[in-house]
Amino acid sequence: MTRWTKKREMPAAVFESYPSWAVALSNGLSLSIYALGSVIVARLGWGFLAAYLVFLAYLEVHLLARGCVHCTYYGRACFSGKGLVASWLFKRGDPSRFASRKFTWLSLLPDMLVVLIPLGAGLFLSIRRFDWLLLSLMVGLIILAFPGNGCVRGRLACRYCRQRELGCPAEELFRRRERERARSRGLTTQGCP
Ligand code: SF4
Repeated sequence: MTRWTKKREMPAAVFESYPSWAVALSNGLSLSIYALGSVIVARLGWGFLAAYLVFLAYLEVHLLARGCVHCTYYGRACFSGKGLVASWLFKRGDPSRFASRKFTWLSLLPDMLVVLIPLGAGLFLSIRRFDWLLLSLMVGLIILAFPGNGCVRGRLACRYCRQRELGCPAEELFRRRERERARSRGLTTQGCP
């Protein structure tokens, strides 16, 4: 059952367990990005599609085994539901390791490749033979992966996350970038990009 807890520095509250609509929204977004990426990569051939799908599966399992097992949401529904899935597949890790992990922009490269691989494939195919449908797929992918993901993360996932309070290297990296952007614009706000 979803429970809200008032916290002093949080914008409103944190979810001890995210509601099913939030998990559905988050997974709907991720699956849409994976589906668009797969449709674009499939135009290169079945071999490329198979390699891309193996890469996606590897990223998901790696995240569950290396990240989610140490998260405070282990055994509960985080925004993506992976806290629950990790508890079905792997033993609980060490919660102190979650916040102490080193996280840089380079750490984001594998996640970025989920989008960069299909965009690179789409660009390559477009140069060979322009196709409006392919261009629409690429634009849709960019919208979902950047503003879409940023919005869900900023307004739902990280915003109400208990782990954020306890320490999250990824969120700190994003927040640092937001602060730098806001400073360069003379602003102090945070939100969807
Ligand atoms: S703060 Fe954001 S990135 Fe960090 S664990 Fe929570 S939802 Fe994930």
